[in-house]
Amino acid sequence: MFIEVNSANRKAGWIEVVCGSMFSGKTEELIRRLRRAQIANQQVEIFKPALDTRYSQDAIVSHNQNSIRSTPVTSARQILMLASGVEVVGIDEAQFFDEGLVEVARELANRGLRVIIAGLDMDYRGVPFGPMPALLATAEFVTKVHAICQRCGSLANYSYRLAEQDQRILLGEKSDYEPRCRRCYHLEAVEVKQKNEGVEVKQKNE
Ligand code: ZN
Repeated sequence: MFIEVNSANRKAGWIEVVCGSMFSGKTEELIRRLRRAQIANQQVEIFKPALDTRYSQDAIVSHNQNSIRSTPVTSARQILMLASGVEVVGIDEAQFFDEGLVEVARELANRGLRVIIAGLDMDYRGVPFGPMPALLATAEFVTKVHAICQRCGSLANYSYRLAEQDQRILLGEKSDYEPRCRRCYHLEAVEVKQKNEGVEVKQKNE
């Protein structure tokens, strides 16, 4: 479990990233860290992209209904303006932000803030998601959390999309995605490919 570094020197900021697949507990971990900071009477602000309005306009809500008040923003730059006088900044669903979030996180940390970022590391195709790769590279602390594969019970790090839509952003509901391990994620992909190829071959012969 992540233990906060000794921050006696309050002039130094840093960046923490919590990443993983859907249902891996990223948001719960973000909320846990932010709550601890709040209990310590630190000035905390939480931001999320305005498009993530699955459950609530102004709260981060994790899948287990644990929630904490947050401010929706339409661009990463907005966070810079809204974070004045703040000691700890939490950012949820970071994968949906523009690439500007990387510079924003660096600037906040350079100002002396603790920046805690949670997001999906990969999209449903297994491709690194938005600003996440650069955030992972520039953070002092990285925590990768895992779900449990819904097929075999192994550790899962992929978000397998059950819904047949191919836009990158499909806000996650339990019925749209399932966490899968590497093996089960790729097995399915191969099965689908073979099925599609089978259909093509059949059509050619007709
Ligand atoms: Zn599996």
